[in-house]
Amino acid sequence: MKPRYLIDAHVHLNNYHESERRPTQENVRDLLEKMAELEIDHAVVITSYKVDMDRPSVEELLELLSNERRITVVEGLRWRGDQRTDLFTLEERLRDGLVKGIKLYPGYDHYPINDPSLETVFRIAAKYSVPVMIHTGDTYSRTAKVRMAHPLLVDDVAVDYPDVKFVMCHVGNPWFQDAAEVLYKNDNVYADISGLTLGEFTYEFERYVAMRLKDMIAYMGDPGKQLMYGSDFPLVKMKPYLKFLQELDFKPDALESVAWRTASRLFGIDESQLAKPPPP
Ligand SMILES: [Zn+2]
Repeated sequence: MKPRYLIDAHVHLNNYHESERRPTQENVRDLLEKMAELEIDHAVVITSYKVDMDRPSVEELLELLSNERRITVVEGLRWRGDQRTDLFTLEERLRDGLVKGIKLYPGYDHYPINDPSLETVFRIAAKYSVPVMIHTGDTYSRTAKVRMAHPLLVDDVAVDYPDVKFVMCHVGNPWFQDAAEVLYKNDNVYADISGLTLGEFTYEFERYVAMRLKDMIAYMGDPGKQLMYGSDFPLVKMKPYLKFLQELDFKPDALESVAWRTASRLFGIDESQLAKPPPP
């Protein structure tokens, strides 16, 4: 069954292999080509917790994507080291509607999500009504501290900042049950199902993850309220991930919400932006 639209709420434009280092423009072209091929109507591009040769800055991406209505940009917070995000310029980009959300990388950057230093960031998110996306669970880096990315910590900030909407990326993998509790308990917490494998699934692992997600949904109730589709492209291949979405057997109305409706509300992507342009 095919939903009316499809939003991929979690993609990147970074290089992940030094051997395949390419200009960002080529990564943009790849992404748009893949989206066209697989009929993905919109993608949320998330910038990194670092800026270097492999990770473009938000300024660079906004310039490359300035006329691209199929893409929404979420700004990754750089919160450790010497190139920290300037919150004043972040706020300006939110005010001007150039970026539509903030992504935090606890674990990768060494802080937990309930770190008191983040209060200003949450207040800015509340002021501009933009979601705060949070990396949760397993990290794609040996130098990250995974305890700091545990999904249960999201409950702390969900309670302390009830006027902020939080998105647990990767549903806390492998702590699905803890993520389910946080979702069940807090109406201001959402999750994307991105990045649950690297590249493509093996048969066994896909079955394993699908079972865990179905258990989660049984516990938390209506998945349409809080879950969103996302892939984590290019770390994850888009086509097998769309098949994975089908495997989760959502009921028709929940599928519409997971595939696009919830993301369109959270990121302010209106339906006219999703509708395909009329044929010439
Ligand atoms: Zn990601």
